[in-house]
Amino acid sequence: VEKTYRRGGLFGARAVVRAVHDADFSLRRGETLGLVGESGSGKSTLARCVVKLVEPERGTIAYHGTDLRPLSRAAWKPYRRRIQMVFQDPYASLNPRRTVGETIAEGPVTHGVPRAKALDRARDLLRLVQLDPGAMDRYPHEFSGGQRQRIGIARALAMEPELLIADEPVSALDVSVQAQVLDLLADIRARLGLTMLFITHDLRVAAQICDRVAVMQRGAIVEQGRTAEVFAAPQHPYTRQLLDSIP
Ligand code: ATP
Ligand code: MG
Repeated sequence: VEKTYRRGGLFGARAVVRAVHDADFSLRRGETLGLVGESGSGKSTLARCVVKLVEPERGTIAYHGTDLRPLSRAAWKPYRRRIQMVFQDPYASLNPRRTVGETIAEGPVTHGVPRAKALDRARDLLRLVQLDPGAMDRYPHEFSGGQRQRIGIARALAMEPELLIADEPVSALDVSVQAQVLDLLADIRARLGLTMLFITHDLRVAAQICDRVAVMQRGAIVEQGRTAEVFAAPQHPYTRQLLDSIP
């Protein structure tokens, strides 16, 4: 897909940013693909195109053979359930006025699941992400960054997605908490057979969880392949540069 941002600047100056322009990739059922690249390379924009938070100007987003890009919001709604996203910032992505239970149950309720059933399921999901069921009636600000990320994961899983897009889910967390959240994602993925698009600027994180990686530089995917192969024999100079920068 292609996405260009246009901003009106001071005194009528216009900034044009070609955020994503050459980014073909595919995901097979059950696999985890890592989208890696430095800050500003277009990873979030590409991920947001998949969930219609950003509307690309050109390209195709094929999902089981259907192109999602031209669909209206209404036509897209059934896919909204199956493709869920976990966001980068565990502080900004949860509504402070909603209890954790309501936060997790909200999506299923808007998709027609009876409230009591959705809340029961939210309690089970808290257990799955290793939070105490007592968290149900508390508010997001009472939790640490790592715990909030678990709540965000539970909220995404409540929709029983086929595809989970995780946009830098551990970048805001300190290293020991990163490892816990990564372990949790790996465990859930195996248990639920999830397909995952995992976004990170950190190649070490990608190496821990991704079957394949796609390397993005200035809006383009410059290299992709099996994680071990890309690490052992990077083909593109930018990938080599990224690997060399790992201490
Ligand atoms: P990071 O690792 O910092 O999250 P990223 O790879 O996710 O970076 P994007 O957020 O997709 O990168 O940004 C790609 C480019 O598009 C950047 O140049 C950014 O400034 C620009 N951009 C992103 N969102 C917008 C927006 N809403 N309006 C204008 N420009 C934007
Ligand atoms: Mg980003």
